[in-house]
Amino acid sequence: MFVGHYAASLALKSFEKRASLGILFLAVQFVDILFFPFVLLGIERMNVVENFTQSTHFELEYMPYTHSLLAGVLWAALAYTLFRWVFVKNGSVAIVIALAVFSHWLFDLPVHTPDLPLWSDASPKLGFGLWNNAVATYILEAGLLLLALWMYLRSTKAATAAGKYGMSVFVAVLLLVNISNLFGAPMGDSKPALAIAALSSYFLFAAVAFWLDRKRS
Ligand SMILES: [Zn+2]
Repeated sequence: MFVGHYAASLALKSFEKRASLGILFLAVQFVDILFFPFVLLGIERMNVVENFTQSTHFELEYMPYTHSLLAGVLWAALAYTLFRWVFVKNGSVAIVIALAVFSHWLFDLPVHTPDLPLWSDASPKLGFGLWNNAVATYILEAGLLLLALWMYLRSTKAATAAGKYGMSVFVAVLLLVNISNLFGAPMGDSKPALAIAALSSYFLFAAVAFWLDRKRS
């Protein structure tokens, strides 16, 4: 799952206004932000396989440190610890950011093929395989995102014109990006290029979310 992960960011923000939306955007993609460098370093493995599913062109071969259920819990615990005692030092903010980190695994579960290990690469692997149906994947991600956008808009107030329309326009852009992501041609088989594209979109989207969120109160 790609843009659908941001549904968790927007929904969690509507429950805890003190959490930064920019941080929540990074938190939901945190394990993917680790995954791409881990692949380049040889710690985890993926192979570029054209049309591996109807909507993806890679086989996720080995990723116990970022995409196992156990890893999701441990990274979430680390996020809780950091935001409880080091950065924001607020228990409720720390819980929301930890939930955002953990949500990645839950949101990946319906779309991935069975490549999400429970605790290690030798453990059972889960994934309901919705990626094999690109239209269904798109509808699921769009539905989650629109529902979360509605929750976010209901729970915050626009301070400026950018605040009034900005987040809806941004979500529309994310939905457009996801069309080319799910239905577009494969990006090629360069893993560094794939990593740069993914990481730059994660950080760019987080920066936009951070900026737009400041226009609402
Ligand atoms: Zn992932």
